[in-house]
Amino acid sequence: MALRHRVEVTEGAFEVRHAGGQRGLGVFSRAALPAGTVLFKEHPIVAMQHLNNRAQGVVVCDRCFRFLGPIEEQIRSLLVSADRSCASLPPSLPQLASSAALPLPVPCPGGCALRFCSEQCAADNFAEQHRLLCHGAASGAASSSVDAMMVETAASPASEALAKFESHAAKSNEIFLLAAKAMALVITAVNGGVSLETALEPFPGPPWWEAVATPDDVTDEAQFRDTLRQLLQESFQLLFPILSPHATPPCAPLFGDVLVYARMVGSFERRNCAVQVASPVEAYFLAVDAMEESDSKRQLMAVTSPVLDALDEAYATPCEGTGIFPLQATLNHSCEPNVSLLKDGPDEEDGRVVARVSRDVAPGEELCNAYCDVELHFAERQRELWEYGFVCGCARCEREKTMQSDGKRRLK
Ligand SMILES: [Zn+2]
Ligand SMILES: [Zn+2]
Ligand SMILES: [Zn+2]
Repeated sequence: MALRHRVEVTEGAFEVRHAGGQRGLGVFSRAALPAGTVLFKEHPIVAMQHLNNRAQGVVVCDRCFRFLGPIEEQIRSLLVSADRSCASLPPSLPQLASSAALPLPVPCPGGCALRFCSEQCAADNFAEQHRLLCHGAASGAASSSVDAMMVETAASPASEALAKFESHAAKSNEIFLLAAKAMALVITAVNGGVSLETALEPFPGPPWWEAVATPDDVTDEAQFRDTLRQLLQESFQLLFPILSPHATPPCAPLFGDVLVYARMVGSFERRNCAVQVASPVEAYFLAVDAMEESDSKRQLMAVTSPVLDALDEAYATPCEGTGIFPLQATLNHSCEPNVSLLKDGPDEEDGRVVARVSRDVAPGEELCNAYCDVELHFAERQRELWEYGFVCGCARCEREKTMQSDGKRRLK
């Protein structure tokens, strides 16, 4: 039994196996794949919206990152967060044939302030991990739809302890919030009969203080790593009283010392991938703009233009976050990738990723995406990739490395 993981794979298209040498796992084609073939569609096993994105007023389902409606409330939230006037926003904007209604927010069954796109998402989120991290009824808006039974079964942690942990994370490293979700996910899975080893599989990493690449402005490396270790220790001590009461004996290694938590945070440093969902507010205004010139368009724009002016650049703010996509994480990097990852396409309304081959691929070829911007020069790419903890030896880097040293030799 493994962790529950929402992923659709194209049967027979690829396999995950050892890539040889020090490279760990890789993904390899099992057949000739024409450009455009979908390899898989994957939801993160655990993910979070970036705190600064939430502060910009982007309101999404806390589990699947679908934008919540109605669109007028989404716009109001963007305006309020940007300290702009909502005077131009009518109670309801004209409906467009092309824009589907956004799901209305469903409260957390535990009664906290989190909102979801459906009863299902709310219940799954609660069952998977959030029951251990829910602030409970006191923190949420009063809601009649709170499921009283679930609240009772939720051994709600002291909201105060949770608030302390969250505030420390917000001030130091928001990834601690994601690690807390992952810890809760692992504890829930192990309590449900999954082995600890299996539950920890998606989160292999060096301890966080080793995983972080040294920033350019750091002169004392040892002191830098000591500071990281101390922050992590503080975070663990704040998390301990919240999660440890839920741990059954097989979970004991999670709390024996700081190391499992440190490796989990380290795995996020190395393996986390972006969550991105395009804004339906942007789609709405683009659809208005794309309408044929007519009287009805002019009437419509008399309502929508002042709203767009008030929003200014905020109209296009996507949902941005980060998470662990276990299958995506097995794709190795190449500076000449043959896989493209789509996160914010027009049909992608939640935080899943769609992996496609971007050119024709032969059977047995390794399938790779690019972890860095492939437009960058050799040295810049190497610097970016170093943050992931490796030196790229892809065919293109080998060619460009030779070219670089040839160039240097000629200059001498
Ligand atoms: Zn959802
Ligand atoms: Zn909750
Ligand atoms: Zn390369």
